Amino acid sequence: MQALVNKIYLDHKDSISEGDKASYIPALANIPDNLGLAVRDHSSIYTAGDTTFRFTFQSLSKIILLLVALEDNSTDYIFNHVGMESSGDSFNSISKLDFTNIIKPYNPFINAGAILIASLIKGSNYTEKLKKIMVLCEKIFERNDIGFNDEIYLSERNSAYRNRALAYLLKEKDILEGDVEEILDLYFKCCSIEVNCVDLANLGYFLSFNKNSIIKDNHLRIVKALMLTCGMYDYSGEFAVKIGLPSKSGVSGGIVTCVPQRMGIGVFSPRLDSKGNSILGIRCIEELNVALDLNIFR
Ligand code: GLN
Repeated sequence: MQALVNKIYLDHKDSISEGDKASYIPALANIPDNLGLAVRDHSSIYTAGDTTFRFTFQSLSKIILLLVALEDNSTDYIFNHVGMESSGDSFNSISKLDFTNIIKPYNPFINAGAILIASLIKGSNYTEKLKKIMVLCEKIFERNDIGFNDEIYLSERNSAYRNRALAYLLKEKDILEGDVEEILDLYFKCCSIEVNCVDLANLGYFLSFNKNSIIKDNHLRIVKALMLTCGMYDYSGEFAVKIGLPSKSGVSGGIVTCVPQRMGIGVFSPRLDSKGNSILGIRCIEELNVALDLNIFR
């Protein structure tokens, strides 16, 4: 496995300047070009490239937000507030949300859905809610030094016109309850959690095996189904057809992939395609998939 991981890294490392970095959050444009790949199976963790480099969680945090919200509420309550269907639109699209027949965001992995999910996390105050999210990250990443990237957090908070528009539209439609700015802040803060490729491989592994049974199995099943259908933005259908693995990407360039009962994969490279997915991230997962026949529909 280590030889394969090394080979995949070497096959792609010279393409790290292909594509563009996300720049709608200004500080994301400054992330250095980079490639890291980590695979965890039951015997070991295999890494290649810069797997210690810390980047921000971004949309990958939507997995954690959903897990915490599912543990806090009944499944019916969650899905009365947010749908289970892919939107077919970009992750931060506002267009369909304003249709008169829309009573909830399409799914928990688009921004509108994740902001709503953040509002369903229980706690007597902001600090308590954030703490719950951090505690789950500590357990999944198997480290207790979870930190935040303040520069990227502030950059997002100060430029989040579209996310604010989404949240206030949800509020205006009486879908979102609570203090809008506080809910948004919890969402931005989670997007700014610092992770590396090994953390992502641990997350994928956790979703595959539910190590220590810290989350109800049914909740993990829900998350993996949504990763398969909605995890790669409006590329999710094509990704499911071509690769067939529950995955989730984030605009900082991370992708987490879960191979049920087999392994977790974490890959990072900050340059993105037109849908917002890491170009080299997808290529590395594709190559691993072909080499190991991972597709869950095989
Ligand atoms: N923080 C980002 C945003 O809300 C996360 C989006 C993403 O990674 N796709 O726009």
